[in-house]
Amino acid sequence: MPERVVIIGSGPAGWAAAIYAARANLDPLVIEGMFGMSGGMVPLGQLYFTTEVENYPGFPFGVLSQFLDTALDDKEKQIAPPITDEKHAVTGPELMHLMRQQAKNFGTRVISDEVVEVDFDSKPLRVKPSDGDWIEAHSVIIATGARANYLGLESEEKFKNGGVSACAVCDGALPRFRNKPLVVIGGGDSAMEEATYLTKYAEKVYLVHRRDEFRASPIMAERVLNNPKIEPVWSHNVVEVLGSAEQGVTGVTVVGIKDGVTKELPASGMFLAIGHTPNTAFLGGKLDMNEAGYIRWTKPYRTNTSVDGVFAAGDVADDYYRQAITSAGTGCMAALDAERYLGDQGIH
Ligand code: FAD
Repeated sequence: MPERVVIIGSGPAGWAAAIYAARANLDPLVIEGMFGMSGGMVPLGQLYFTTEVENYPGFPFGVLSQFLDTALDDKEKQIAPPITDEKHAVTGPELMHLMRQQAKNFGTRVISDEVVEVDFDSKPLRVKPSDGDWIEAHSVIIATGARANYLGLESEEKFKNGGVSACAVCDGALPRFRNKPLVVIGGGDSAMEEATYLTKYAEKVYLVHRRDEFRASPIMAERVLNNPKIEPVWSHNVVEVLGSAEQGVTGVTVVGIKDGVTKELPASGMFLAIGHTPNTAFLGGKLDMNEAGYIRWTKPYRTNTSVDGVFAAGDVADDYYRQAITSAGTGCMAALDAERYLGDQGIH
């Protein structure tokens, strides 16, 4: 018997879709990914790579230990981060374990594997996990997210969660960045937005770009150039992130592309704004996507894609907002869209 709903991906979009689909008695199957999967991804989404999540509604700063202790089942507790009595906002891994548990509480089944191929020409639709047979489904929700592009430096890897970030809106307000100099890397619209946003908190923002003009739209670039707190560092590459385990990031080393001269910029944080890569390679171009590889929604305010019965939710279809709350929101929409689609097909 084909599944009614298969959900691929295990970030906020995937679990929100699963919670709604399970509560609609659709008995969803989530294929959540696995450790060691392609592209350096892990199950439980991008939030698994972060510490405090201060902007997800419902989780103010406080002592969460009792709630976590009672909400997670014994198996989940063994893999979840240690439950502490410290006052904190929810961490990314805690939030994701709670979402996963909530979906399982309503009967969601979970396979820890990566989908490597899809067949959307057939009806039922078919998806292929790396270690298993083709799975048939009447509807599929793709919630495989995106991953931020990094420079690929060893020192950058070392300071992720210690001052290196790919999301100013997520992390900019953290105390470690307040009233300190910061570095933003990039020259497109996102870099302009991130740099401008960070001036709310930072003492100063160095905007490092490898060219001698921005790629961004003129209006965004002008806003940046007129902002006295932003200093463009033209035609330079960051070659090392400086810092220590105790202090986190303390600066970056940049090299002039034209003159090869090296200098250090003091900074308590480095924000990457050099694009994201949506996790859509496994789709083999079977869905309509934009030029950057994000899945296109084909109906306004709906999560439908170019194939009937296939829906997309979260960052994989959103190159603009890229937040946990918006991903959870579109995950909910995708489950409701799938439920209505199945109803129209007479599948309950
Ligand atoms: P993701 O979270 O990207 O999850 C997708 C999942 O699908 C991944 O687990 C991946 O392994 C899995 N997957 C991919 N391909 C396959 C496949 N072929 N088969 C099976 N599984 C697959 N947002 C906020 O709102 N607040 C924050 O504080 C915040 N902090 C952040 C900090 C960092 C360091 C980063 C990187 C992002 C942060 N974000 C934050 C952004 C937020 O994490 C994302 O917007 C959100 O996680 C997107 O959710 P998603 O469900 O669309 O996809």
